[in-house]
Amino acid sequence: MTEFDFDLFVIGGGSGGVRAARLAAGLGKKVAIAEEFRFGGTCVIRGCVPKKLFVYASQFAEHFEDSHGFGWSVGETSFDWPTLIANKDREIDRLEGLYKRGLENAGAEIIASRAELTGPHSVLIKATGVTVTAKHILIAVGGRPNPHASLPGHELCISSNEAFHLDALPKAIVIAGGGYIAVEFANIFHGLGVETTLIYRGKEIMSRFDMDMRRGLHAAMEEKGIRILCHEVFSKIERGPDGRLLAHTSNGKALVADQVMLALGRDPNTEGLGLDKAGVETGHKGEILIDDYSRTNVESIYAVGDVTDRVQLTPVAIHEAMCLIDTLYHDRPTSPDHDLIATAVFSQPEIGTIGLSEDEASKRFDELEIYRAEFRPMKATLSGRNEKSIMKIVVNAEDRKVVGVHILGHEAGELAQILGIVLKAGCTKDDFDRTMAVHPTASEELVTMYQPSYRVKGGERV
Ligand code: NDP
Repeated sequence: MTEFDFDLFVIGGGSGGVRAARLAAGLGKKVAIAEEFRFGGTCVIRGCVPKKLFVYASQFAEHFEDSHGFGWSVGETSFDWPTLIANKDREIDRLEGLYKRGLENAGAEIIASRAELTGPHSVLIKATGVTVTAKHILIAVGGRPNPHASLPGHELCISSNEAFHLDALPKAIVIAGGGYIAVEFANIFHGLGVETTLIYRGKEIMSRFDMDMRRGLHAAMEEKGIRILCHEVFSKIERGPDGRLLAHTSNGKALVADQVMLALGRDPNTEGLGLDKAGVETGHKGEILIDDYSRTNVESIYAVGDVTDRVQLTPVAIHEAMCLIDTLYHDRPTSPDHDLIATAVFSQPEIGTIGLSEDEASKRFDELEIYRAEFRPMKATLSGRNEKSIMKIVVNAEDRKVVGVHILGHEAGELAQILGIVLKAGCTKDDFDRTMAVHPTASEELVTMYQPSYRVKGGERV
């Protein structure tokens, strides 16, 4: 043991912090991990996990409708919001317990308190007022919803945090934003029977995705009955005399809703963390600046996950934490690999994507081959649902390497995981072509598009 109380002190019990603490403790290091709210972080407590449970809940209305075409008659149905919340909370409690037990079993000390830096090697535990020292400190405090403080009436709005605990399901909701959280929740609320409006400042929702995915999802959401307003922002939110909310927009509309939700990105959670006392540098959004090995400008302090604002995804935070353990304790300096990250949007239909969009690829390569299929999924033939799936492969014509695959449709997230391996392995379109189709599936389209739908040369479609 050194002159420090701990080898590693982790601030933040989310995906990145818990993984680092558990692995370090498992290696026999003396580790403490402090969390001010609940272990599991955004992902488990108020993010990915409860969101996915809500997505499942919201899909039943369509399942009931679709069943008629297959000969089923479904009796009267009803939905009970408090039941969903209670069951979801029970599952989240179970998962939080697993996270804590994993830490305990590995031998980490769990501290249920906010912790703040007081120096390069010291941390104040707020609940007890005790200051402890550590050879290394890892900051993994994540992020929080952008509150849009400049919007008059922003305090009347909810974020995704509150959406998981509403006392009652609103009759109508307006959601601002065109990213992951906005579209996922718009579909969730709509599926649960809520009159849903999405308002987005840009030309088309999902700005970082391939244009076919953006347009296809927009059309599919409108087809379901979700109202989407583009090129529009809130100008003011106020409460009307009847207690409902009025969301005024830049185009002069006044939208009436029971809840207004802001999903305008997430900010690093660095306020009041004592970074100044330790001398840790931050960027313009408050994100912690790190080098290729997740080390801050202070030699003893590291940071991983959303607080560094690299890629705000759970598996990325976990990967960064695992690289850090290699760097610190296995004498193997390892830089996180942020290239080719597959991702899924749990909209309805889902988006699964990996690699470059057509637009991004056309800026990087002289000539592209684009393979694109748009088709009606087999289930829709009997259900009668008017829906389309889109699959798109972006290929660098020079070496035939597949540089992007984008899918809109059922289970697109599941497919993205497998395609992640395929693109990481550097597969070419020829590898796709010599792979036998699995029939009848939707994904057989991926290996049966033999001729390019079109080519892109010098940024222009030819
Ligand atoms: P996103 O970055 O996905 O989207 C933010 C949206 O808000 C964008 O449409 C952006 O517009 C818009 N916006 C930002 N500021 C303003 C403003 N001042 N006025 C109007 N519009 C604004 O963030 P989310 O909050 O949806 O999600 C946060 C992160 O969480 C995501 O980046 C993602 O990494 C992660 N996440 C991942 C999920 C998954 O893997 N399935 C699910 C949920 C979240 P513009 O596009 O024009 O910039």
